[in-house]
Order: sequence, then structure tokens, then C-alpha cells
Amino acid sequence: MYDNYQRNIDYFRISITDRCNLRCRYCMPEGIPLIPMEQILRYEEILSVCTEAVSLGIRKYKITGGEPLVRIGCADLIRRIKQIPGVEQVTMTTNGVLLSEHLDALVHAEIDGINISLDTLDPARYQSITGFSKLDRVMTAIEEAVDYGLNVKVNCVLQKGINEEDWPELLELARDLPLHVRFIELMPIGEGKKQEGVSNNELFSVISDRYPGIHRDYRIHGNGPAIYYKIPGFRGSLGLISAIHGKFCDSCNRIRMTSTGDLKSCLCYDKGINIREAVRNNDREQIREILKKTICGKPRMHHFEEIKEITEHKKMVQIGG
Ligand code: SAM
Ligand code: SF4
Repeated sequence: MYDNYQRNIDYFRISITDRCNLRCRYCMPEGIPLIPMEQILRYEEILSVCTEAVSLGIRKYKITGGEPLVRIGCADLIRRIKQIPGVEQVTMTTNGVLLSEHLDALVHAEIDGINISLDTLDPARYQSITGFSKLDRVMTAIEEAVDYGLNVKVNCVLQKGINEEDWPELLELARDLPLHVRFIELMPIGEGKKQEGVSNNELFSVISDRYPGIHRDYRIHGNGPAIYYKIPGFRGSLGLISAIHGKFCDSCNRIRMTSTGDLKSCLCYDKGINIREAVRNNDREQIREILKKTICGKPRMHHFEEIKEITEHKKMVQIGG
């Protein structure tokens, strides 16, 4: 379905939980209250939203959280979304800590790709950013996912004074492994407002100095706004997602749903309609209406550059990044 700015909205990011087994400092602060379970959509309810969304032309789905793999049955949900007629692609984003033990099930669910979030390869910094010493598990999971032949993307958020120097080791993962290493600019949402991110323009300039043969690769496409580059000698690629310094709202193709059923058309604004009641009343017409309203109400662009314009006050872990 097209929104009011002629953008084809065909991609839906669905958060299935606000729980997480890490505490990344820019995403989930310690002590944040958890949402009562009865407010969280059950899998059947998520499936009925997906079924109506498909009928509006939304064919690509990303399962996110919180950490989606802490919710029991996540792989089975993915399998069931994949089975809805008209669904073309289901992927997930995970911190990778529990991934190894779920890989078999995810492959059987016919998942189309996995994004693994990882901001450093330094064990001490990993602990300081995430609050836990789980780096080894994530590294093992990345290699296993690649061995399974899955489409793997490693998503990295750089923060000034914290891990800004860690990009070379992260990028070098793509030398020997056929995966995409993507740098995502920190957005001023929730705890992200308290940290300073790194501009991808500046990052690309230092990357190009180090890898003179780097060039755009127009063949690689994800669901979104990443711009991809190939580096000679690398099996994988570099991706840059520049939400702040490369505003890509003109080509934004997505809506989101939080674990409680809040539909969101843009990360910047706390504007949205809750779909839970319609789902619990099994009111298919109403579900479709709410989805349509969300798509039609999608703003032309975010205004992350104007802090006072940001009306979204939830933390990223509660929204689903
Ligand atoms: N737990 C899963 C994970 O870490 O991939 C899924 C949820 S997490 C909220 C999804 C992504 O959002 C992660 O890659 C994380 O780094 C990113 N993220 C969280 N807060 C952010 C912010 N303020 N700006 C940019 N990305 C952010
Ligand atoms: Fe958890 Fe992902 Fe947020 Fe880190 S980024 S706290 S892993 S939800």
C-alpha cells in the first residue's frame, strides 16, 4: 500500500517482547519497568495482524524486540508468518547471545536472514556496552549462522568515546566471512539521546583512506536504506545506514508494531494507534483500518536533528529497533 507521499509500504518490523538478556547502554537502562505480560500480544494475535497486513501489500517482516530469542517459540512464530500466503520474506534481528541454540529451528522455519547486533570485538568494551560477558557466544553464533548459509548482517552502532575506534576489527569480519557489516548511526531515541554517535560521513572518509579500492555495490539490497560497498579482497561487504547524516525518509518503506500492539509509522514520533483491542475482538476490518491509518499517517520525514521535535519518549527496547 502507498502512503500519502507515494512511498510503497511493504515492510513491517514487529517487536515480540520488551525483555532482553543484555542491557546495552543506549537502548535498555537498568531498572526499566517491564510491561505486564497480559499487555503483550500473543503469537496468534501477531499472526492475525500479519494476515491483514499481507492483504494490504506488506510482504516483508522483521521480528525484533527486546531480544526476540528470549521469548519461547520465536522460531515457530517465524515459521508461521512465512506460511501466510503472500509473505515473501521474514528475517529477525538479535543480539546473538542465544542464537546458536536456535539456529536449527530458525533454518527449519525457513528464515530469510538474520541481523546480529554487535558493537565491538573487544571483550572488555563488550561488557561495558552490554553489561554482560557474552562476546564469545555471539562470535560463535555469527560463524555458525554463516556456515548454515544464512544471509547474515552484523549491525554496529558506534558511539563517540566508547567504541568509535572499533570499526576496523568489525569491518574486517567481512574479509573472511561472506556477511555484511553495517554501521548504523545512533539515533536520539531513549537512552540514545545521552550518547554521541559517529557520523557515517566521517566514518566513510576514514574507511576509504584505509581501503582505497572501495566502491559502491548496487547489487546488494536489504529491506531498507543501507548503502553497500565492496572492498577488494573481502568476501562480504560494508553497509552504511545513515539515519541522521543521510536522511533517507523519501524511500522509507516501513511501519512498526511494539510488543503491546502500538503501531508506529516513524521512530521519531509518539504518534500511533494501538491495535490490541481490535485484535482481541477478532475484528479483521478494524485491524485493516488501523493498519491503513498508520500507513496514511506516516510523516514525510523524521526530525531527529531537532531534539524538541522528537515526541517519542519510549526506550528503544520498548519500541523495537
Ligand atoms: N535485541 C535485538 C538486537 O539487539 O538486535 C533486537 C532489538 S534492538 C533494539 C535492534 C537494534 O536497535 C540493535 O541493532 C541496536 O543496536 C539498535 N539500537 C538500539 N538503540 C538505538 C539507537 N538509539 N540508535 C540506533 N540504533 C539503536
Ligand atoms: Fe537488548 Fe538489543 Fe537493546 Fe541491546 S540493543 S539492550 S540486545 S534490545
